[in-house]
Amino acid sequence: MVLQIELVQGDITAQEADAIVNAANSSLLGGGGVDGAIHRKGGPAILAACRSLRASHYGRGLATGQAVATTAGNLRARWVVHTVGPVWSGTEDRSELLRSCYATSLRVADELGAQTIAFPLISAGIYGWPVADAARQALTVLRASTPEHLVEARLVLFGAETYRIAAEQAG
Ligand code: ADP
Repeated sequence: MVLQIELVQGDITAQEADAIVNAANSSLLGGGGVDGAIHRKGGPAILAACRSLRASHYGRGLATGQAVATTAGNLRARWVVHTVGPVWSGTEDRSELLRSCYATSLRVADELGAQTIAFPLISAGIYGWPVADAARQALTVLRASTPEHLVEARLVLFGAETYRIAAEQAG
C-alpha cells in the first residue's frame, strides 16, 4: 500500500488517528514537550502501561530509535507508539537513528493493524534537531514506506513557523 502523507499544523494530542506517536525519552516515564502533553491529555492509563512495559521488557529503558505501543488512554486513538529520538549532535551524524524512529513506529503501528498514524516532529524540540532537517528525515522514511495496513501518515507540526519550514521540505 502506498502511504498517503499529510502535513498539518496542530496539536498531536487533538488528533484522531489509530496510532499517535510520542516523542518519548528512554525512561518511558514521561517528560516535557509532546511527551508531557500526551500523558496529561491521555490520562494515567498510558503511564501505567509504560511502567509495566518498563518492568517487563525495558529495565534499562527503550533504546534510541526503537518504538513500542501502549494504550492511548483518553486520546482519540487506539494506540500511542512511544519512540525515542536522538539528541541532536553538531558533530556526529545521528540521522539514521532519527529515521529509525519513523521506520520502527510505522512497523509497530502497521503490525497492530493501524490504518492512520500521526507523528510529531521527533527530536525537533527539547532534543534540539534543526526543524528543516528533522522534517526532511521524516519525509524520507514516510515516502519510502510500503506498509500493509497503514493508508495515511500525518506529520503534525506545532506552530505556524514549524509548519512553514516542514512544508517547504515537502515541496
Ligand atoms: P524531542 O524531545 O524529541 O525533541 P519535543 O516534544 O520536545 O520532543 O518536541 C518535538 C516537536 O514537537 C517539536 O517541534 C515541538 O515544538 C513539537 N511539539 C511540542 N508539543 C507538541 C504538541 N502538543 N503537539 C505537536 N507537536 C508538539
